[in-house]
Amino acid sequence: MIYLDNNATTRIAPAVKAAMLPYLDDEFGNPSSQSAIGARAKEALLRSRLAISDFVKASPTEIVFTSGATESNHAAILGAIEHFSGKRNRIVTTAVEHPATLRLLQSRKEVEVVLLSVDRQGRLDPAQIDAAITTNTALVSVMWANNETGVVFPVEEIARIAKQRGALFHTDAVQAIGRLPLNFRDSSIDLLSFSGHKLHAPKGIGGLLVKKGLMLPPFIIGSQERGRRGGTENVMGIAALGEAIALPSENGEIETLRNLLEELVLSGLSDCTVNGTASPRIGNTSSITFSGIDGEELLMAIEKEGIIASQSAACQSGGRKPSHVLIAMGLQEGEAKATLRFSLSRYNRREEVEEAARIIVSAARRARARNPFA
Ligand code: PLP
Repeated sequence: MIYLDNNATTRIAPAVKAAMLPYLDDEFGNPSSQSAIGARAKEALLRSRLAISDFVKASPTEIVFTSGATESNHAAILGAIEHFSGKRNRIVTTAVEHPATLRLLQSRKEVEVVLLSVDRQGRLDPAQIDAAITTNTALVSVMWANNETGVVFPVEEIARIAKQRGALFHTDAVQAIGRLPLNFRDSSIDLLSFSGHKLHAPKGIGGLLVKKGLMLPPFIIGSQERGRRGGTENVMGIAALGEAIALPSENGEIETLRNLLEELVLSGLSDCTVNGTASPRIGNTSSITFSGIDGEELLMAIEKEGIIASQSAACQSGGRKPSHVLIAMGLQEGEAKATLRFSLSRYNRREEVEEAARIIVSAARRARARNPFA
């Protein structure tokens, strides 16, 4: 298998697995209990909190562990609404957010949601944010890097605008964390969501950074996480997250391989477009439109030869609906359905990328030969 679907989820790193194992074994204590075994579990939480705070340049008390980014996004968005006690009910966001944000917002009838669009390159103009904020705006929620195209939004600039206008700012940083530099302490971002399983930690663990002094209501009532998120902590997951976040960066190598993949595919095939190339992009993601080809068929054909990629976000695929991200960028439905996402990680090798490109090019040529008038 050549795994090129790392924006959906990643392999657990060996060092991360090793950091988890004691808590699957003898170190099964409850961090809230007074015993020595409990104290050791509590120390594991602290170690992880310190590693994360060091990496994201935040105070350890600004980190709240959650079950993942879907929960973090819920906590940030619902918390911001409650924060203003119903006095502000407008939320400004974008049409290309992850379903974890969009579906939550769609479900809240009391919230006035402003969905900003992007241009053909996936770009968002910060002036659009400024124009959309009113005195009724509780929150601006804009993702940092898009999970389908890798396009990066200027979140710091947007956060500053939100702050000047008296609104809170949240970013879904799932695909950005570890790939783009972050200094939470000096940033105007109030709330930032991240997830372990995109970083070579397991599923079911993530976090929300909450700016010091911002008192949101508890996400889950209980005493853990300083009263913000009740429930016995996922000690094993938290230990994993602390280890994963500190893995040495291989972003440069990954970007070189992503660029190689694009070069090989584009030089082997006519009528292919990489989406978002005129925008800043994270270095591991490539969204390629293969004109005239049914993306689902191509995806299945390459999987038969061992290449794992995807058509859009993992939780959306499986349906025949075209990607909302690509549609928001102005692609036609047929173009969106002809698009595949390839996302790389530290575990991809040059030979794998060369082999994957060869398989993708020949599968796409076969598909076009079968249907030359598409
Ligand atoms: N936000 C983005 C941008 C994502 O890519 C994902 C994962 O697919 C999520 C949120 C949801 O994260 P989790 O699986 O941790 O709930």
